[in-house]
Amino acid sequence: MVKSVCRRVWGFIVHELSIASRIVELVGEQVCAAGGGRVAAVTLKIGTLSCVHEDALRFSFNLAREGTPLADAELRVVTVPVVIWCAACGREVTLPGIQKFACPECGTPSGDIRAGRELDLESIELDDEAAAVEASKGRIT
Ligand SMILES: [Zn+2]
Repeated sequence: MVKSVCRRVWGFIVHELSIASRIVELVGEQVCAAGGGRVAAVTLKIGTLSCVHEDALRFSFNLAREGTPLADAELRVVTVPVVIWCAACGREVTLPGIQKFACPECGTPSGDIRAGRELDLESIELDDEAAAVEASKGRIT
């Protein structure tokens, strides 16, 4: 279900390009606010259900960062698996994939998604470590 919604041909480049532009803008604002500097690395948290195509995002990021303080920045992506609440087990369980929204332990179906939709800016590292910026964590879009 989710997979078919995510499947795009040309649309995905436009989608990821707008996300990449937003990342460059957000990071640029925070680096400026911290006194400037060149960015060494940017870490993102991307949920399995966020509909973000990582390869397309990396491609778009390389385009969007031209001529910005992020020009040489490394893009690190932390993939967040889907976590659902299982009422039968009484706890949160991590799904091995997104084919089936049911508890992997007991098989009880659940639509109560607790994680996996993230698209967050996790951290920013500057070349000058002394001036490291603590990213204000939050959603990119
Ligand atoms: Zn269960």
